[in-house]
Amino acid sequence: MTIAQETAELLTSLGVSKESFTGGDLPAKSPITGEKIADVRSVSPAEAGRIIEQADAAFRAWRLVPAPRRGELVRLLGEELRAHKAELGRLVSIEAGKIPSEGLGEVQEMIDICDFAVGLSRQLYGLTIATERPGHRMMETWHPLGVVGVISAFNFPVAVWSWNAALALVCGNAIVWKPSEKTPLTALACNAILKRAMARFGDAPEGLAQLLIGDRAVGEALVDHPKVALVSATGSTRMGRDVGPRLAKRFARAILELGGNNAGIVCPSADLDMALRAIAFGAMGTAGQRCTTLRRLFVHESIYDALVQRLRKAYESVSVGNPLTTNALVGPLIDEAAFRGMEKAIERARAEGGKVTGGSRIDTGDAAAFYVRPALVEMPDQTGPVTEETFAPILYVMKYSDFDEVLAKHNAVGAGLSSSIFTLDMREAERFLSADGSDCGIANVNIGTSGAEIGGAFGGEKETGGGRESGSDAWKAYMRRATNTVNYSKALPLAQGVSFDID
Ligand code: NAD
Repeated sequence: MTIAQETAELLTSLGVSKESFTGGDLPAKSPITGEKIADVRSVSPAEAGRIIEQADAAFRAWRLVPAPRRGELVRLLGEELRAHKAELGRLVSIEAGKIPSEGLGEVQEMIDICDFAVGLSRQLYGLTIATERPGHRMMETWHPLGVVGVISAFNFPVAVWSWNAALALVCGNAIVWKPSEKTPLTALACNAILKRAMARFGDAPEGLAQLLIGDRAVGEALVDHPKVALVSATGSTRMGRDVGPRLAKRFARAILELGGNNAGIVCPSADLDMALRAIAFGAMGTAGQRCTTLRRLFVHESIYDALVQRLRKAYESVSVGNPLTTNALVGPLIDEAAFRGMEKAIERARAEGGKVTGGSRIDTGDAAAFYVRPALVEMPDQTGPVTEETFAPILYVMKYSDFDEVLAKHNAVGAGLSSSIFTLDMREAERFLSADGSDCGIANVNIGTSGAEIGGAFGGEKETGGGRESGSDAWKAYMRRATNTVNYSKALPLAQGVSFDID
């Protein structure tokens, strides 16, 4: 069976109609062989506008449904995902090139966030606040916000949608999703799965969850539409530089989840066996195509040679290949542009004095597929391409001697997503997590930079955009906060002792 045939079977079994993935204008490809596997129909910006209007109408009904009942829809979505985990996980592997355990892991993340959101649907608490005026009560209430737009990247084609969708739905919002143009098929599948949950739910308003297949122009239509109250946009910092100001211009809310240039510090006391495994997964897993991928590694000079020697061995021996037919740990890059970007960064690193292990293309017989041996690049200093995110498996390694200096270098890049330290010295660990430690949204001790759990708020600072999604109190960004003061006295005292007595 060809990949295209298997894809058609998977889509059909997940409830996607044949018309949605045949005869359209947007070719869907699999990075595993580079071949075209479907033709999807994209929407025009004008159609996008009409779809957003439908979502707005659905929002007006959905916001009146009690939150625990809204949670029931998300519970059913979680059930459907459990039932279809194998098929959807396989489709993620086909469309994004992930190895099977990562494809399935991404669907598991969707199930986890659904569970979280179901609990949340009974916990959208507000505060009661002390008031300075007698006979008054002050409180906060949280109300549904409106239509939530979701823009997602190719590398987490389904999980990012679910982080937003599960929270937005229990918070009483409608959702309109613009997936990456590189991964439209998994988006069609998610939409079909949610539609099935909605059918079982019974009375969810028509238009509550919408899909906009298309490119950047469709994304822009979503960003600019006045009925979209919040856009949660995941992708490159370049995209965020465009989307952020456009949303600000019309005072819409933004959750920006942008690029990372994540670092690890390996200290003299580190458990090197543990560090080695964490570094290998963080830097080479998902073929270096996670926003949280480890890209910079600072190793103390006393253990540098020992660790780098072991890392080199791991880089030379890690299995790279077709994730559908082999047990390889590293699958393909998404496309040729990603490979060219990697080549260019390595070339620049060499010019800056970098010593490169790996980094070359591996021939699998498919001219349009781009498999690479991950690159380990020993750098004399943090210069040139080391300061930027290249979305490919390149790990820059640098030597350090002083802890204060390495902390400063760690923070001296534009992005601020994820970070980790490997140490058994509690002073170093606590300092790394303190106010003058890592400046990232995620800071870990003795685990790698990637593979976050849904229970914590996910996101980063600086050029990563500042947004938070998923767990903790990230839900608050999806709701309208109202401060309410009720006067149950017979007087009208003004706050701050102001008097304004009219006759
Ligand atoms: P990309 O920026 O090329 O595209 C992301 C999405 O934005 C796509 O759906 C695209 O169509 C849309 N888009 C692009 N320009 C737009 C515009 N001007 N207006 C509206 N929509 C627009 O990113 P990619 O190559 O798909 O993904 C890789 C990038 O995403 C990396 O930089 C990675 O670090 C980042 N990423 C970040 C996170 C996070 O949570 N911080 C998670 C995953 C990926």
